[in-house]
Amino acid sequence: MDELKNIIRDVPDFPKKGIVFKDITTLLADAKSFQRMVDLLAHRYVGEKIDKVVGVEARGFILGAALAYKLGAGVVLVRKPGKLPSETFSKTYQLEYGTDTLEIHTDAIRKGEKVLIADDVLATGGTMSAVVDMVRDLGGEIVECCFLAELDFLGGRKKLPDGKVFSLLTF
Ligand code: AMP
Repeated sequence: MDELKNIIRDVPDFPKKGIVFKDITTLLADAKSFQRMVDLLAHRYVGEKIDKVVGVEARGFILGAALAYKLGAGVVLVRKPGKLPSETFSKTYQLEYGTDTLEIHTDAIRKGEKVLIADDVLATGGTMSAVVDMVRDLGGEIVECCFLAELDFLGGRKKLPDGKVFSLLTF
C-alpha cells in the first residue's frame, strides 16, 4: 500500500496557496499501480451485486468506469452544471467560500438499485455528501462511498453515512 501512496504526487499551493494537492495522475500513468488500485477496490465489492457505479467529475469518472467494468455494473456520471444533455436533478452545496452545484440525469438510477459512489480524494466531504443526497433522492440504495485516498485530518467522513465510507489510502 505504501507503494501506491508514494506514487501519488504532492503539489504544494495548488490550486491555491496553503493547499497540498494530491495529484493522482502519477499513479494513473503507472500501469502496475493503476491496475492494483482498481483490483483492490473492485475486490471489496465483488458479490455485492452493484447495479450502478456513480463517478464524480472528473477524476471519479476514471475510477468509477474501471470499477463498473470489473463489477459488471453501469456507470453514472455526476457532472458540473450544464454538461449533462437530458433532464437533470441538481444539488447545490456549501464550500468553504461560496457554493457549488452538481447534476445527475434523473433517469440514471432507478428506485432500489444498489449504488457504489466513487471519487479520487475525500477532503472535506462536501462533494460526496451532495452526491449521497442526490442518489438517495433518486431512490438508489447506497452500498458505499469509495475513494482512492482520504485526507483524514479534514474529517470529511463525518459528513457521510456512518459505516459507508471506504478509502484505500489514508493521509
Ligand atoms: P471535498 O472537500 O471532499 O468536497 O473535495 C472536493 C473534491 O476536490 C474531491 O472530488 C477531490 O477530488 C478534490 N480535492 C479536494 N482537496 C484535494 C486535495 N488536497 N488534493 C486532491 N484533490 C482534492
